[in-house]
Amino acid sequence: MSTSTPRPLTDATHTAGAMLEACRTLVHDDVFVHVRDWDREDILPDAVLARLAEIGVPGALVPPRYGGRGLTVSELVEVWRVLAQGWISLTGAVNTTYLGTALLLRYGTEAQREQWLPRIAAGEVWASFSITEPGAGSDLRRLETSVRPTAGGLVVNGQKRWIAGGLSFPLAFMLAQEEGGAGLSCVVLPADGRGGETWSVELLDKLGYRGVESAAWRFADHHADGAEILGGDDSHGQGARQMIDVLEIGRVNVACRALGIIDRAIECALVEASQRDIGRGVLGDYSHAQLRVGEMRCRQRVVEAVVGRAAASIDNHEPESAELSTAAKVAASETAVWAVECASRLAASRSYNEGSELARLRRDAPQTQIGEGANDALLLAVGKGLIRGRSRT
Ligand SMILES: Cc1cc2nc3c(=O)[nH]c(=O)nc-3n(C[C@H](O)[C@H](O)[C@H](O)COP(=O)(O)OP(=O)(O)OC[C@H]3O[C@@H](n4cnc5c(N)ncnc54)[C@H](O)[C@@H]3O)c2cc1C
Repeated sequence: MSTSTPRPLTDATHTAGAMLEACRTLVHDDVFVHVRDWDREDILPDAVLARLAEIGVPGALVPPRYGGRGLTVSELVEVWRVLAQGWISLTGAVNTTYLGTALLLRYGTEAQREQWLPRIAAGEVWASFSITEPGAGSDLRRLETSVRPTAGGLVVNGQKRWIAGGLSFPLAFMLAQEEGGAGLSCVVLPADGRGGETWSVELLDKLGYRGVESAAWRFADHHADGAEILGGDDSHGQGARQMIDVLEIGRVNVACRALGIIDRAIECALVEASQRDIGRGVLGDYSHAQLRVGEMRCRQRVVEAVVGRAAASIDNHEPESAELSTAAKVAASETAVWAVECASRLAASRSYNEGSELARLRRDAPQTQIGEGANDALLLAVGKGLIRGRSRT
């Protein structure tokens, strides 16, 4: 996966509705036809990424004053869902650029915004978002990657893991310890020098969610020219708070990946119910198939509602947005895994053919339980907050 310069934005894809239609066409004409091969070969073709950039998907949150469309998270929900109906890797590939956009908008200096947002809006720059390390996921106290200032940039040491776009995206937002005790800061890290001796890159092989580059980085006294702390001098030690804050957008994106999977699981179940001959009729004549499909549909509606509510709460800057996006991500991902299992029971052996859609969904769905925070870790955080609040009263 690498990004190439897209054609300029066109009026035809300027509104959310037009963007959605363009994504639908991409999914129907291209993705459904090729996803089996892309998944097997673990590729997300450059032409598909270039098309997404051309439609304006990765830069959609950039406001008009920086050359973007300024769409809302609510307007992107259907876009992310439709892309995930084709392949969750499409919805995942665009996600981290939104996180970078939100970091710049919420916490960047004006100079940092002006440097990067117009290029994100134009689809030239896609961004990675790097928190995880080999020894640290949810537990940020264990993060060890460090930075210290040097002339024109920062010196970086340590290891990062599971970085989407970590091979080819030109920019990264990375959480690191500032040497000298300032704490965790968010580093704006241009990719120059990546792949060299002091910043080595390894691509990770994955069970599902294939096509998205998931990289591991190792820094050894790497001099990162142009690297700086997000937000400048006022932001030392604020990185964990900043990066966790914008993850609410990522959790809605992951929930939309799950919703796309639920949609496809229902479609697979309906194909089985209507086309599989059983007894004197078809599988769908039997009450157990009707019950399964009915339950899948009702749970799909519940997930749609909570995802929409979470997206609106982010757009409206509601204090509950973090918790609602967690609820949406957890509910959607658990439902996706369950829905794929339901459809697979109806399809039986046909869900086990390598290359069948259900076989891929079985591998893809669990990614949504892990990405943007393991569900258990997210639930623990919600529960702990509630219990502490009650203990004080
Ligand atoms: C395909 C894929 C793509 C990814 N892309 C990115 C990316 O682009 N950028 C990035 O930074 N990361 C990325 N990740 C990493 C992902 O965000 C982490 O895997 C996730 O946050 C969970 O971290 P962990 O796997 O270390 O598990 P942990 O957070 O360590 O959780 C493991 C288990 O520990 C327990 N646990 C967690 N917290 C607590 C606690 N406080 N108290 C008690 N028990 C606890 C829970 O049971 C939990 O399930 C990706 C991961 C995958 C699989």
